[in-house]
Amino acid sequence: MPYVVTQSCCADASCVQACPVNCIHPAPGEPGFGTAEMLYVDAKSCVDCGACATACPVEAIKPHTTLTPAEQPFLALNAAYYDCFPHADRHPLAIIEKQRRLQVPGPFRVAVIGAGPAGLYTADELLKHPEIEGVDVYDRLPTPYGLVRYGVAPDHGHTKQVEQLFRAVEELPGFRYFLGVEVGRDVTLADLREQYHAVVYATGAASDRRLGVPGEQLPGSLSATELVAWYNGHPDRADLPVPLEHERAVVIGNGNVALDVARILTADLTALERTDMSALAWAALQRSSIREVVVLGRRGPADAAFTLPELVGLAALEDVDVVVDADPASLAPGAPGDGAKLELLREIASRTPVEGRRRLVLRFHTSPVAVLGEDAVTGLRVVRDGVEEDLDCGLVLRAIGYRGLPVADLPYDEATGTVPNDAGRVETGLYVAGWVKRGPSGFIGTNKTCAQETVTAILDDLDAGRPGLPAPVGTADTIATVVAERAPEVIDLAGWRRLDAEERRRGAARGRPRAKVVELAEMRRLARAGEATGPGRPGRAGRGGGAAAAVRRYASVREIIRGSDRRR
Ligand code: NAP
Repeated sequence: MPYVVTQSCCADASCVQACPVNCIHPAPGEPGFGTAEMLYVDAKSCVDCGACATACPVEAIKPHTTLTPAEQPFLALNAAYYDCFPHADRHPLAIIEKQRRLQVPGPFRVAVIGAGPAGLYTADELLKHPEIEGVDVYDRLPTPYGLVRYGVAPDHGHTKQVEQLFRAVEELPGFRYFLGVEVGRDVTLADLREQYHAVVYATGAASDRRLGVPGEQLPGSLSATELVAWYNGHPDRADLPVPLEHERAVVIGNGNVALDVARILTADLTALERTDMSALAWAALQRSSIREVVVLGRRGPADAAFTLPELVGLAALEDVDVVVDADPASLAPGAPGDGAKLELLREIASRTPVEGRRRLVLRFHTSPVAVLGEDAVTGLRVVRDGVEEDLDCGLVLRAIGYRGLPVADLPYDEATGTVPNDAGRVETGLYVAGWVKRGPSGFIGTNKTCAQETVTAILDDLDAGRPGLPAPVGTADTIATVVAERAPEVIDLAGWRRLDAEERRRGAARGRPRAKVVELAEMRRLARAGEATGPGRPGRAGRGGGAAAAVRRYASVREIIRGSDRRR
């Protein structure tokens, strides 16, 4: 098999577009796309051209000859997909859809709120259309990339490579950042609707779900989202008190976030030292007494929400014993839901633990009843098969899912924690993308298809002439003036580049990809150091505009990505 998709697959399907022989599936529009745990290369059709590997933003696709021992299982995993889904009816060549042209010439301006993956994929999709004069991306933080910077586990460096793609989006003519500007505080939705033809919220899911058990509020009972933000150096959580004195921590929930936090709490600190994790968190973890992390799934192994690629990665860890604590009947061959995940869990369960290593225990059919302790967490009461048991621990992490909070001026669905929408449209002129639109599920690349859907709704409305809505006032320059008046500390792309360069410089000195700055004031200072002008937008017309610019733009995106490949 020439090329193989591996663990860090983000499912944005750039590889599908790049493949000249349509050998990567499920493709957008096919059954399973959007819900599959990853994409797969069909060995029988692959012509070994490498186009997919070049297009992949997270370095997930590799020639089979370069797979590490830990990646070898992905060879069988890619092949197994085609045993189940031969795709006999597929087209021999990938079909690239014709670029849509608007009936009305524009120019149009769009505001995107949120500079995470959903916001930046949306900006990218919008700027493919020459009728869109400019896209301004707002974020309340001085830094972009959202969950890629503050949510992806630091030991998943490949996943963070998607930043290369975002850097290319930032270079697109018409793209502009207003970072450190909070919509709802510094500027209102009404302000934005006055200035832009369309406003897109891509603000994610900022909170987490609650267990609703007694003791949940005790110090030492935290959400995994808080811990993730802590070890990733999020300015709001950089000094989170995390009790690490007890030998055991318990993680509630069976998703990929649960595996992320369990892995980081049991990880080899020398390996983590070479990542971009928060220096404060690294120092705290170095003093940690944790020897065992128990991950609780309320259902059985076959129903675990973590994905097979992540389990493959976990199973390959060399510095920690992964232990499967499950009813043997639920793991037995032929058990309901038997498949590759169960097969791997069986193999892990058959391993002999190595004395003295940290343990990561996957325990199933176990639910929390109460967090125990007077002033702080001392344990967790759980129930399995009707039998209660107390687990001693000093840290309880609920990893039971993110949850979107109500957004000022937007409708809110309490049940789903999302903004009610129709394919991204809240109403004409107002849209959503990402987790605020569809809830907290999927991978980083899932946001690409999600953004395409929202952008289609925007283009439909622009083509229909925004009936009933007044034309926006102002120009790109007047918008910048309004923002600068309301939020004088606004940071533009050049400012972010300065901060980014300084973080990389500080990191390089210590053999790390970057040393994150965690104080907001310091971020702003570094972003402003040596500043020449206020926020500006590289004009589209100035660079040639229209189709020619579009061609050059995409050529340059590919060049940037290829250039970064060559450097690595
Ligand atoms: P998730 O995948 O939705 O998993 C939530 C887990 O919490 C499920 O196991 C669920 O069990 C459990 N749960 C919910 N309520 C519970 C309760 N009251 N008591 C006990 N358990 C409860 O959420 P997530 O892990 O936060 O991940 C969010 C999204 O990000 C997912 O799409 C995930 O794949 C993605 N992600 C991907 C990566 C990666 O690719 N490396 C890393 C992190 C996150 P039930 O199934 O029984 O409801």
